[in-house]
Amino acid sequence: ELHKRLDIPGEDEVARLARSLNRMLNRLEITVEGYKQFTGDASHELRTPLTVMKGEISLALQKERSTNYYKEVLEGIEEEVDRLIRMVEQLLFLARADGDKIKNHLNTIDLYETLVPLLEQMKILTEAKHQEISWIIPKHILISTDPDALQQILLNLLDNAIKYTPESGRIEVRVEQHPDLVRILVADTGNGIANEHLERIFERFYRIDKGRSRELGGTGLGLAIVQKLAHLIGGNLSVTSAVGHGTTFSLDIPLRPTGQL
Ligand code: ADP
Repeated sequence: ELHKRLDIPGEDEVARLARSLNRMLNRLEITVEGYKQFTGDASHELRTPLTVMKGEISLALQKERSTNYYKEVLEGIEEEVDRLIRMVEQLLFLARADGDKIKNHLNTIDLYETLVPLLEQMKILTEAKHQEISWIIPKHILISTDPDALQQILLNLLDNAIKYTPESGRIEVRVEQHPDLVRILVADTGNGIANEHLERIFERFYRIDKGRSRELGGTGLGLAIVQKLAHLIGGNLSVTSAVGHGTTFSLDIPLRPTGQL
């Protein structure tokens, strides 16, 4: 009675508040742990190539070497520097996205007209690897979305499909129209991803085979960025895969009436 009159919460209420506070603290702890892990990973990822380059430079400066030797060292360094620049740009993007600094620029676009030029461009890369790329995209689907973000998502997914699919593999892009969403599927006949890795590939710096990703110029940040961009456009990204058969990424974009930006 007294509790009620003085507006003091009862025991049940206090217990409920304590539980909810506990849950909040747990979540906060996980977030802080995540950031600590990320800072550690990022420092390590940036330091390793710098250490390698320092070693190569010291070795080259030890004594007189042939022009060819210097050229090879410089080429190796250029590759590393390119990868570092890519990594730093991707980290900057993620930092801006974490701080909600990336704005959504909505526009009404025709999916066929937006995606086909990009696919034609990617075809050149697949031809170099003797892969086949095909697409099934219905004409005249208009959606309201951020075209740059959508293109970036597709570019990243296709880049991965090409990288992680052996020669003579196939890549297919399909667009399906559902009552309240459009689904964009990017399927490849590549190595596939085992279940234990599947839920982690969107984490920053997570790579199934570090050496291989590195050789292919990867940074392990691509899918983390794709995930951010998918959220930015209000979409939902999912993945299914079968080891030895291939992988399919699926992006669902909810439809809003066009004209209503
Ligand atoms: P990376 O720069 O290493 O490609 P991503 O974030 O784009 O980084 O991808 C993370 C990891 O997920 C890759 O290293 C690779 O192991 C795996 N992966 C991504 N896409 C595919 C795919 N289409 N087929 C098989 N594995 C993939």
